[in-house]
Amino acid sequence: MTKEKITTRATAYHFSDLPMATFVYVIKSARRVWVIDTFCGSLSMEPVLQDMPEGREVMVVNTHFHWDHVWGNCAFTGEVVSHRRCRELLAAGWEQELAKYGKYRRGRVERRLPTITFEQRLFFPEEGIELFYSPGHTADSISLFDHEDRLLYVGDNLERPLVYVEDPDLDAYLRTLEEYKKYRPQLLMAGHAKNLTLEEVEGNIDYLRHLKAGTEVVFVTEEERLIHAANQKVLKGECG
Ligand SMILES: [Zn+2]
Repeated sequence: MTKEKITTRATAYHFSDLPMATFVYVIKSARRVWVIDTFCGSLSMEPVLQDMPEGREVMVVNTHFHWDHVWGNCAFTGEVVSHRRCRELLAAGWEQELAKYGKYRRGRVERRLPTITFEQRLFFPEEGIELFYSPGHTADSISLFDHEDRLLYVGDNLERPLVYVEDPDLDAYLRTLEEYKKYRPQLLMAGHAKNLTLEEVEGNIDYLRHLKAGTEVVFVTEEERLIHAANQKVLKGECG
């Protein structure tokens, strides 16, 4: 694990013990500490806990229900916030995900569901923190905008080199990426990539339009070709 201060109040924790790089972000606002996603279990959250200021309320954010974003929830005792659908998916599928991906567990993984859920938007004006529904990668995805630093945290809705579509509603995905542009973020931070730019958002909009239309897309790398083939399968209803 390595960590990097990305603004005066935000830190990125970079985990490289999975096949894909993963980031957990921590924002220290006036009254709370925001932990965006909790990776693979209690052990992976230890470095985050070590940096926790005494007595500050912790608010864990689950950007979506996937195991590599929620298994460390049990390391925290405060509130956990997510979209309503995320909580439902976790309640229904926690044990199956653990059975399927258990080899990636780091320390304790106890079922800890979100304690606060919302539908469209939750705003914490004193903290400059806004959470909003942003379906795309999955139907339960949410994003967090830090108004003070103008950073947008997008969960798995953006990736490098290409997005992973796991829900066939591409119109919703496109609406979400258009919405991101309206926030005019300085940079965008994602679960498996950081410092993404609005140019990269445009690139993904372009890609999703091609995917939706079924038109041919030319890729430079084998990695992109493989992700694209997996995305096409999801659209055809053949889940990977
Ligand atoms: Zn995901």
